[in-house]
Amino acid sequence: AKSGGRGAFRFFEPELDELMHARRNLERDMRKALAQGEFELHYQPFVDVESGQACGFEALLRWHHPERGLVSPAEFIPLAEETGLILPLGEWVLRAACAEAAKWPPALTIAINLSPAQFRSKDLVSIIVGALAASGIAPQRLELEVTETVIMHDSEAVFAALGKLRELGVRIALDDFGTGYSSLSFLQRFPFDKVKIDRSFVSELSRKKGEAHRIARAVVAFAVSLGKTTTAEGVETAEQLDILREEGCAEAQGYYFSRPMPASSIPQLAQRKAET
Ligand code: C2E
Ligand code: CA
Ligand code: CA
Ligand code: CA
Repeated sequence: AKSGGRGAFRFFEPELDELMHARRNLERDMRKALAQGEFELHYQPFVDVESGQACGFEALLRWHHPERGLVSPAEFIPLAEETGLILPLGEWVLRAACAEAAKWPPALTIAINLSPAQFRSKDLVSIIVGALAASGIAPQRLELEVTETVIMHDSEAVFAALGKLRELGVRIALDDFGTGYSSLSFLQRFPFDKVKIDRSFVSELSRKKGEAHRIARAVVAFAVSLGKTTTAEGVETAEQLDILREEGCAEAQGYYFSRPMPASSIPQLAQRKAET
């Protein structure tokens, strides 16, 4: 930073310096982590509201940092996006999650989060085709979760990529529904198969009336009215699940059913699905 003139400006320099230093360290650590296998995927089921059976699992990235312990994706994904590291990291996630799903009963879906930066890469479709081929899973078992910001950047290229993926049979889910700024007409044109209602609305669902509850219910009703499969995120109570069922929401996901867990904990759960 410039050190000209104003004392007040210089006052903030050490803090800014520290912040930049911390970010550089984090970036360096992330590159090493990818090479050394410190990233891991945890899996959280999403469940059919009527039958209570798992429909599939969402892959959620975890980083076992040698000194800092478990680092949350909320902390490192934004930096991975800024530095471009999300591209190799995202490709690793796609390959690892598809390979894991290949061990499950074929009725189970694997849902994977994609960053806007991955959509800006020309290679996205071929990377996904590669991950499907390497794992041997059917494209119909893969669901890609994207947020509205993905489409707002470069909608023509993104629409083309989404179209190709859907032609292959891959499903597209709109993540964090209710938190974006898209117009209704835009949502109608957006080629997706599923809506995931953001946790912030689900947590407001309760029998107590009131403004927040009414808005939450309206968001659920609107998501259902789009005519796609609807999944509610962050379901933590039986009451929330009941209200979602009343509103016609098809699937639910959240701590009420299961926290995200390592792959080694999945077999029993998946087995139950296979038996019925
Ligand atoms: P998301 O895609 O909205 O994922 C849902 C988040 O809610 C996860 O946080 C999950 O652990 C948490 N969650 C699930 N059920 C409950 C619940 O009942 N209550 C509460 N309080 N939380 C619940 P997580 O795993 O920390 O991931 C945070 C975000 O990081 C994700 O939000 C996603 O945007 C991003 N992310 C995670 N893995 C990946 C990845 O592989 N690639 C990309 N691009 N982003 C990822
Ligand atoms: Ca997600
Ligand atoms: Ca979400
Ligand atoms: Ca989110």
